[in-house]
Amino acid sequence: MPRQSLRTRRTVAEASQTKPQPEPEPKKPAAAATPKKTRTAAAAGPKAATGKVSDVEEEESDSKLEAPTAGEAKASRNARATKRKTVAEDDDEVVKAEKASKPAAKKMRTAKAKIEDIVPLAKRTAVSSLKKTIYIGAHVSGAGGVQNSVHNAVHIGANAFALFLKSQRKWDNPPLAAEARDAFRSLSKEHGFDSCRHCVPHGSYLVNLAAAEKAKADQAYTSFLDDLRRCDALGIVLYNFHPGNTNGGDRAEAISRIAAQLNKAHQATKGSKVVAVLENMAGQGNVIGCKFEDLRDIIAQVDDKSRVGVCIDTCHTFAAGYDLRTPEVFAKTVQAFDDLVGNSYLRAFHLNDSKAPFDSHRDLHANIGTGFLGLRAFHNVMNHAPFQGLPMVLETPIDRKGADGKAVEDKQIWADEIKLLESLIGMDPEGDEFKALDVKLQKQGEAERNKLQAQADKKGAMEAKKAEKAAKGKVGGAAKKKAPAKGNKKAADSSDGDEDASESE
Ligand SMILES: [Zn+2]
Ligand SMILES: [Zn+2]
Repeated sequence: MPRQSLRTRRTVAEASQTKPQPEPEPKKPAAAATPKKTRTAAAAGPKAATGKVSDVEEEESDSKLEAPTAGEAKASRNARATKRKTVAEDDDEVVKAEKASKPAAKKMRTAKAKIEDIVPLAKRTAVSSLKKTIYIGAHVSGAGGVQNSVHNAVHIGANAFALFLKSQRKWDNPPLAAEARDAFRSLSKEHGFDSCRHCVPHGSYLVNLAAAEKAKADQAYTSFLDDLRRCDALGIVLYNFHPGNTNGGDRAEAISRIAAQLNKAHQATKGSKVVAVLENMAGQGNVIGCKFEDLRDIIAQVDDKSRVGVCIDTCHTFAAGYDLRTPEVFAKTVQAFDDLVGNSYLRAFHLNDSKAPFDSHRDLHANIGTGFLGLRAFHNVMNHAPFQGLPMVLETPIDRKGADGKAVEDKQIWADEIKLLESLIGMDPEGDEFKALDVKLQKQGEAERNKLQAQADKKGAMEAKKAEKAAKGKVGGAAKKKAPAKGNKKAADSSDGDEDASESE
């Protein structure tokens, strides 16, 4: 009980750090941040955005953030509408929680330094004690300064971590403070993190390197380059980002624009070792990176191949139609990646289960073992020899309802998931221990999976109906819309404003 209250207080204190600092996000794939900010501002004034985010649909909105960047008004509207629809309840709670936590946050600010010294939620595992060299961690908060990410990683027993180098929801950020830089470097050293290998910052969701319009492209490039320079200053080598969005334009041209931006950034940072790590995506249509071929095609056009890599997100992979659940399909997917992209480019992992079914193109992270991927998929990943030595970062939901019904971050979830994943290394997947874990976690996620399965079924039925209608119309010579062909559904989405279908954008 005292521990719980400490954790709660700590979270609050972190949130309070967002005021004077450029990092309002206390968590990771804070994708939800921007749409939330929009709504929060309307609901509670511009200062309400403390960075407390509902984890539930977070990454889903990542991809949506591309839309406003590109100024594709309709896509943006659809995205916001979908977002509102999917997280409305959670969001209201978050806004209320933010308001309620303000006075407490103020009080706790002074106590923050002490709280950081409290006993970690879990001790870090000595990687040398594992049967395979694997570095597991989570996307932690850098609120209050990037150096805090090191404390936050230690706190959950992480051997790897991600963070945002600056606010991912606004374009203008103060430069990296020299004190923060020095503290990050010394703390990393003190805690035995090799920043070159174990720290994989996540890029801003606003940045779309595929943007065609000059002003947007320049803005994206400037922010991207700034992040590469921050990495250099911090001694970080791997920089992970979402490839981009075509915004309805030609895919091959968009891919070439990404590569051109990377080449330009590499030129501008000559002598730097920072690797631009492309993340594979869950969506389809305009989203670049949901097919391994996209990643291959970008890399092919990058001049300095030593400075480009790939981060595989397990949830995105599965949602994009690459299965990982059994040893057989896992082997197939891994082979496809090696054939198309090449294992030599693989630099990092995001470990997330999926709330949405296979091939759904929905980006909804679930806690490990509770989603449609299930524990066996993670057993496959953890025990695959070629993945050894890579940083693996959790982006799973950690919001829980507190006793008062308000959302509270429970970092114990990450601490436990790290240990769970480490325990899978060398575990017999046919043994009782694995089976018991599998059953327990699947039960935990059952209601959520059923909900998402029902949505997928409904969507499938709707699409079939639409296709049928379109086919009939064609016969009658009155076809107005094309049937949504699989893999190119976006064309249909933007033409009919179907909220449900626009989410993965
Ligand atoms: Zn995601
Ligand atoms: Zn991401």
